[in-house]
Amino acid sequence: MIPTNVIPIQDVQYSKLCGVCPLCDKTDGFVNLGKEHWFICRDHETKWFVGINLFEGWQNQTVAEAQSIERMLDTYKEITPLKNRVDEQPQRSVANS
Ligand SMILES: [Zn+2]
Repeated sequence: MIPTNVIPIQDVQYSKLCGVCPLCDKTDGFVNLGKEHWFICRDHETKWFVGINLFEGWQNQTVAEAQSIERMLDTYKEITPLKNRVDEQPQRSVANS
């Protein structure tokens, strides 16, 4: 069993701001990779980068936790999340793999 620290997002505001998996319109929450926050969808093994040092808690991570998160993210596919068009027109991010 891999102890991954996925922080669930209850607050719908966050998913609006940070985006959701384009395949299922959901997110399981985010993980911290150092200061980086990555949102993930476990069903589709997708991940998307949200930002650096936006949420508290990344400082408390142990090296082992960070490594297991890194391993998990390694197997996930980076995608462009769906975002609610709150502020602007859809972005065309470059998500070439
Ligand atoms: Zn999904």
